[in-house]
Amino acid sequence: MEKHEVVIAGAGPGGLKAAKTLEEEGKEDILLIEALPKKRIGDKFCGGMVPPRAVDLIGIPESLINTTLNKADLHIDGLTFDVPYQTRWVKRIDLGQYQLSLLKKTELRDSTKVMDVEPKENYITTLDGERIAYNYLIDGSGFKSPIKRKLSGKRENYWQCSGYMIKTKKQVDDAFHFYIYTDMNASLFWTLPYTDLLEVTVAYPIYGSIDKERARQHMEELAGSKDLSLNEGEPKAAPVPWDYKGFKFGNIFLLGDAAGLPSTIIGDGIYQSAKCGEMVAKTITNKGYDWERELKRDLLKHYYIGPGMWINKVYGWTNAAIKIAHLLTNKMDTKISVPEFIGKIARRILYNW
Ligand SMILES: Cc1cc2nc3c(=O)[nH]c(=O)nc-3n(C[C@H](O)[C@H](O)[C@H](O)COP(=O)(O)OP(=O)(O)OC[C@H]3O[C@@H](n4cnc5c(N)ncnc54)[C@H](O)[C@@H]3O)c2cc1C
Repeated sequence: MEKHEVVIAGAGPGGLKAAKTLEEEGKEDILLIEALPKKRIGDKFCGGMVPPRAVDLIGIPESLINTTLNKADLHIDGLTFDVPYQTRWVKRIDLGQYQLSLLKKTELRDSTKVMDVEPKENYITTLDGERIAYNYLIDGSGFKSPIKRKLSGKRENYWQCSGYMIKTKKQVDDAFHFYIYTDMNASLFWTLPYTDLLEVTVAYPIYGSIDKERARQHMEELAGSKDLSLNEGEPKAAPVPWDYKGFKFGNIFLLGDAAGLPSTIIGDGIYQSAKCGEMVAKTITNKGYDWERELKRDLLKHYYIGPGMWINKVYGWTNAAIKIAHLLTNKMDTKISVPEFIGKIARRILYNW
């Protein structure tokens, strides 16, 4: 049977960062197995917002940033919070191809799907029925990971995201907008302008229910406000899992989405996955590395951020936001300019602490 010291399943930000760090730490026998063909590595339905800590960790060059938006506005029906909050965005395919270009020693097996793992026998099986043995297995295969399913059971909590990518001749907006509609139970809509695309998306928790027809109407209105139509867009869908149950299972490690580690507040997970990738590589190469401390100090802090996880679990935090907005004001057709320092505090809490 073919055997490698380290086998990585999935070339997302997590798997690619793991491979890069392993190379830096001197490992040579690394096999990276990816379901997509090489040219499509990175191609995932994802906003691609990269907080400063992700830019630093992955080493994202300035040239990769597609757009920088200086506002992140929150709209609750007619109530608008105009928030000065800077965000930077990359196209996921650009990020994937960039991370891939950094690898020098890793063997890539693209267009190959991992289907199963035998943890006691230390081998995985691919869709073609091939068995590949490992000393260490790193699972960066994301939401649908067959390895995660085997190790810690089926998914319990996730947000489902459905949206449209609409081509535009130029950037149609200079702000990122969140929309909460009081007629849409626990769901969050957003519009995100890239330099040549507008993304219009709705996200809703699987324990809630959503009126799909009504959701489409809201999205059509959002696209229409930019003189665009959903019919011109490419439909996309992907989930954001947050059902963390473990990171290290003997010589098998789960990264980012496979582990269920995205933030429970807005579902960002690029940093978390890349950080897991780095942590795994250091755990493998440095026996003294304290991964448990690092996990608690960094990733779990973001996962359990504030009461986000629990509000989400019992209520859906969008519903909580609606209630708070009603308490704050009855005048729902108001624009509130949030002072810059509040935007800075929010940014610090969410991304820089
Ligand atoms: C709509 C949406 C918007 C988002 N916006 C943001 C954002 O703005 N900022 C942010 O930080 N995060 C965002 N996220 C979350 C982010 O996309 C994920 O947290 C992140 O991509 C997880 O990285 P990963 O490496 O763990 O897995 P993934 O990026 O999912 O990569 C998994 C890789 O494994 C491959 N694969 C899957 N199954 C197999 C298999 N069986 N065998 C081999 N290969 C396999 C896939 O093809 C893929 O390349 C968003 C998510 C969604 C759904």
